[in-house]
Amino acid sequence: MGIVETQAVVLQTYQLADADKIVLCMTEKAGLVRGVARGARRLKSKFGASLEPFTLIHLTFFEKETRELVTIRGAEIIKSYFDAAGNAQAFEGLVYLLELVKEFALPHQADEKLFKMLRACVDFLAQNPSKANAVSAYSELWTLKLTGFLPEFKSCGYCRMSLDETYSGQRHISYEGVLWCQACTEGRAQPLGDDAYKLLSSTRRSGPHQWAQNYAGALEESRRVVSEIARRLVRRALEREPRAGKTSQAQL
Ligand SMILES: [Zn+2]
Repeated sequence: MGIVETQAVVLQTYQLADADKIVLCMTEKAGLVRGVARGARRLKSKFGASLEPFTLIHLTFFEKETRELVTIRGAEIIKSYFDAAGNAQAFEGLVYLLELVKEFALPHQADEKLFKMLRACVDFLAQNPSKANAVSAYSELWTLKLTGFLPEFKSCGYCRMSLDETYSGQRHISYEGVLWCQACTEGRAQPLGDDAYKLLSSTRRSGPHQWAQNYAGALEESRRVVSEIARRLVRRALEREPRAGKTSQAQL
C-alpha cells in the first residue's frame, strides 16, 4: 500500500472524462494494475507519450487498500515500441500477447516471471515481426506454465511411464494436453510425432529467442500441431478460470 515504484508494460488505455485516462498495466511488483492518470490526455501532460499500449515504463502509483483503482503519479518511458507497432505482423502479435497477459495475470498480485516473459516477448517480437507465430505459441505455453495450467509432458497420464526423448514408441496427446504412451492410448488421443514432442518439451528450457529458432527448425506439421495444442490449452484454461479483472472492467 502507499507509493509503489515498478517497471510496467502498458496493456490498454481508456478515456475518462475530458482529460484523464484509465490505464491497465502489467507491473513487475504488483501484477495487473488499473490506474487513473489525471490530465494524461492534455497536450502538455506530465506523462507525455508514456501511457500508450506496448510501452515499457517506469511507473509510480499510489494505492489505497480499499480501492482497486490506483492513482498514477508518474510514468517514464524505458522503451517505446511505437515504431514496431506500425508493422502489421508485429502489431497483431503484440495485441495478442497483451490480451493473453490481461486474461491470465491477477490484479495486485506480483508475478515477476510472467512480467519478465511479457517484457522479453514484446522486445523480441518488435525486432522479429516475422516470428509472430512462434512468439504467440511460446507466450501461450509459458503463460500456461506460469499460471499452473501447462501439463508436464513428461510421462504417460495413465501408466506413468516416462515419455521423454528416449521413448521410442508413438506418443499421443489428449484434448486436455495429457500425454499417453502407445499402450495406453486406446485411440482416444491424437498422435504426437517425435519432432513435435521435441518442440513442445523444449518450451520449458528456452527463452523466446532460442525457442523461435527451435520453432523455425521444426517440421511445418510440428509447428502447426504445437501451435494448435497451445491455443487449445489456453481456451480450456480460460473457460475454467474467470477472466482476471472482468468485474472491474465492467464497472468502468
Ligand atoms: Zn501408458
